[in-house]
Amino acid sequence: MAILVTGGAGYIGSHTVVELLSHGEQVVVVDSLRTGHRSAVSADARFYEGDIRDAELLDRVFGENAIEAVIHFAASSLVGESVQQPLAYYDNNLFGTYSLVNAMVKHGVNKIVFSSTAATYGEPERVPIEEIAPTRPESPYGETKLAMENMFRWCDKAYGIKFVSLRYFNACGAHPDGLIGEDHKPESHLIPIILQVPLGQREHIGIYGDDYPTEDGTCIRDYVHVMDLANAHWLALQHMRAGHSSDVFNLGSGAGFSVQQVIELARSVTEHPIPAVVSPRRAGDPAVLIASSSKARSVLGWQPRYDDLATIIRTAWNWHKQHPDGYAD
Ligand code: NAD
Ligand code: UDP
Repeated sequence: MAILVTGGAGYIGSHTVVELLSHGEQVVVVDSLRTGHRSAVSADARFYEGDIRDAELLDRVFGENAIEAVIHFAASSLVGESVQQPLAYYDNNLFGTYSLVNAMVKHGVNKIVFSSTAATYGEPERVPIEEIAPTRPESPYGETKLAMENMFRWCDKAYGIKFVSLRYFNACGAHPDGLIGEDHKPESHLIPIILQVPLGQREHIGIYGDDYPTEDGTCIRDYVHVMDLANAHWLALQHMRAGHSSDVFNLGSGAGFSVQQVIELARSVTEHPIPAVVSPRRAGDPAVLIASSSKARSVLGWQPRYDDLATIIRTAWNWHKQHPDGYAD
């Protein structure tokens, strides 16, 4: 039987496809290529170009393949854009997930691993953030992700669909072979933006605020390697195959790095001075977001292999150096 990966042409999805194939899984990908790349999808996966909101397409995918479980990445995920266009987020994220779960019910598929986010928590009361912390999303993006988690809860009760929701913190890095990596247009994430400076694509990195209540005044985040995230999806699948009940897990490295520290590490990895200029704060940025991932470690047996941020940046630099303009398509 096969694993259906929605959004498998995207950044985290394409790395997860490679991880699943390495464990001998059969993989089917559905992706609209809205933000993903056809050439990011391994040739060993079966690919359908299309939108998960298209019920006829999903009928065809579930009809033509014996799908055992779904890993669901397909979503819109820009916080700022979601504030400008909330309805587009309700449409793609919530209605998209409704359409997917509807097809799962119709075709008798009862397992789903879901891409959730630290944005479901909002400004934390304490760090590291545990899964039992209050969820108070501060954007339509975070709100739709939380609503999707709640949709899964009710669908578990009503239809017996088991879910594992994985709340990622800051995904970064690239596959160590350098063939796939991060290519978002526009790019909003810190590490690839920093690396645009040594690539000659921007003059300097703008630091969004240096007056936060942290040691050097810049925001602290928890950076987790994309292959460690990919591996957690496979472990989540094993967890459901073993018959465990639905659950929610944070995925982060458990260590916090300030924007300033990330820039310094990137300077040492790239051997480039990477000039930095302080610019105004970005709306909605909490000062510190660090995950407690002890639940994923103890329950799923997750052991991140890339727990050194310099190594993570090195894998990203390896990809960007070889693909300065991203994927050819
Ligand atoms: P991405 O944009 O690279 O990947 C998303 C993929 O889904 C793209 O290939 C896109 O074309 C596809 N897609 C979007 N809507 C679709 C639809 N309606 N039908 C079919 N395909 C569709 O994003 P990413 O960074 O790989 O993130 C993957 C998931 O992880 C998202 O759900 C995101 O919210 C979540 N997430 C990402 C991060 C991060 O740091 N990148 C952090 C937390 C959570
Ligand atoms: N950031 C920054 N300059 C940039 C991009 C990001 O200072 O050009 C900061 C941002 O304010 C946040 C951290 O880097 O504190 C990580 O941002 P990113 O967008 O990568 O992830 P987020 O934490 O928003 O999910």
